[in-house]
Amino acid sequence: MTARGAAGDHFGDPGKSRRVVIVGGGTAGWMTASYLAAAFGDRIDLTVVESAHIGTVGVGEATFSDIRHFFEFLRLAESDWMPACNATYKLAVRFENWREPGHHFYHPFEQLGSVDGFPLSDWWLRHPATNRFDKDCFVMASLCDAERSPRYLDGTLLDQGFVEQDHDESAARSTIAEYQGVQIPYAYHFEAHLLATYLTGYSTRRGVRHIVDNVVDVGLDEDGFITHVATAEHGELSADLFVDCTGFRALLLNKALGEPFVSYQDTLPNDSAVALQVPLDMDREPLRPCTTATAQEAGWIWTIPLISRIGTGYVYAGDYSTPEQAERVLRDFVGPAAADVPANHIKMRIGRSRRSWVKNCVAVGLSSGFVEPLESTGIFFIHHAIEQMVKYFPSGRGDELQRELYNRSIAHVMDGVREFLCLHYVGARRADNQYWKDTKTRKIPDALAERIEIWKHKVPDTESVYPYYHGLPPYSYNCILLGAGGIEVRHSPALDLADERAALAEFQRIRIKADKLVQELPTQNEYFAQMRADTH
Ligand code: FAD
Repeated sequence: MTARGAAGDHFGDPGKSRRVVIVGGGTAGWMTASYLAAAFGDRIDLTVVESAHIGTVGVGEATFSDIRHFFEFLRLAESDWMPACNATYKLAVRFENWREPGHHFYHPFEQLGSVDGFPLSDWWLRHPATNRFDKDCFVMASLCDAERSPRYLDGTLLDQGFVEQDHDESAARSTIAEYQGVQIPYAYHFEAHLLATYLTGYSTRRGVRHIVDNVVDVGLDEDGFITHVATAEHGELSADLFVDCTGFRALLLNKALGEPFVSYQDTLPNDSAVALQVPLDMDREPLRPCTTATAQEAGWIWTIPLISRIGTGYVYAGDYSTPEQAERVLRDFVGPAAADVPANHIKMRIGRSRRSWVKNCVAVGLSSGFVEPLESTGIFFIHHAIEQMVKYFPSGRGDELQRELYNRSIAHVMDGVREFLCLHYVGARRADNQYWKDTKTRKIPDALAERIEIWKHKVPDTESVYPYYHGLPPYSYNCILLGAGGIEVRHSPALDLADERAALAEFQRIRIKADKLVQELPTQNEYFAQMRADTH
């Protein structure tokens, strides 16, 4: 590290464009570059420097429903970017074997309805229509079981009147036909490296400078602001703002600026993963419109169907499994299809940087923080961080308040997702080996412990979630509590006295809608086969 004169010279000078250097060209680096280019155009001078020798993490293919707004902000039509990234649709996360072998349930992207002020989950506990909470309360669960696409063969989206409406202002205003009036929340699966390539093209066409080189040193001034990063072959790159997208290395924020990392390991012990890219025959294997998380002996396996292949990996705790055991479990799970495919072993850093924005350096992506990808929140964190960065974009070195507000927002969301993930483990009925037994006795965050006590008597509703609200809606907690089945929850006593007819009619309405949509919609395989035929 070297020290020298003042950084951030252009801040506060309206005549000069802000210079921003992004270090790292993974999903975080290119999402940040493209978003800032779309937000600020040529009023900002952007450079991305990425190493040809240090690879990206090579995973991160499932997303959360907010991601649609990212593509929409960039004015990218699905018909353009999805084929370029071998993308598919995602309507839910499917959890297998978390309660017991053979059992599955969904956490769909669909709001939970209510009747007479009580959430449908509460009514379901009192008067279950069937033994499937998720299918009785959500249309999406049936669509996932039947492997349906959310779009018809002619490209129109499933009838919006059929799903609880998600208020979505940007969709109403969208200038891109495919997103206009979109009310159903859905997400995507895509190949991470293809998305990075696609966004590289998007960004460079908008004037972003792309340098392929290693950053070998970081220069600081006497106040601890970054003046420049030194590259091996392109000299020094100076800027007003530096974005650290160097992945788990966190080269700028943690290493150069010394910002500490706050580990979540005490509550979320899964710290390792092994991943495989499995060949797929789209004509024979189903493209489920969901990410599947299958519980295993020391963690869980993700299955992500893409047009080109299946992305799969085992997230496990190093205290309970060796990498060799984990790879064997994953290969047994996948079968012969991946016999010749090399495994990618990854050590994960679980937690967050104490502050993600320090001086003139913002960390985005794995350098900022990460929790295991059980709810596909890694890219969601990136998207959220970039939106906040634009919102709190600094005007000068003294913008302490902007930085403080940004840091609060990032910490709030990551800490909230951490709690939600803890609920999956403490709330899973599975306790058939030491790993799963320990999930019931391990420390959980105090606020979650308090809420679980409340939820045992009253399932999550707005009041019992929002005092602690961290960006996840109450229905998400309902899905895990009722689906994973390890915590006994009771219906509200008031429902013993209530007239249940309206609630039963609502279950019936959901069933009729689901059956109709399953009849009408193509499977994802049929939908993407048609798309392929149309483009050839
Ligand atoms: P990386 O991909 O590691 O990129 C780092 C970049 O920094 C690279 O371009 C590298 O070349 C560059 N770099 C590093 N050092 C230097 C240097 N000295 N000089 C120049 N360049 C440098 N998220 C989801 O949303 N959904 C998922 O399903 C999901 N699954 C995941 C599974 C696992 C096992 C893991 C570990 C993560 C998962 N994630 C998921 C998270 C997701 O992968 C990341 O959030 C995303 O890929 C962003 O990574 P990144 O760009 O921050 O880092």
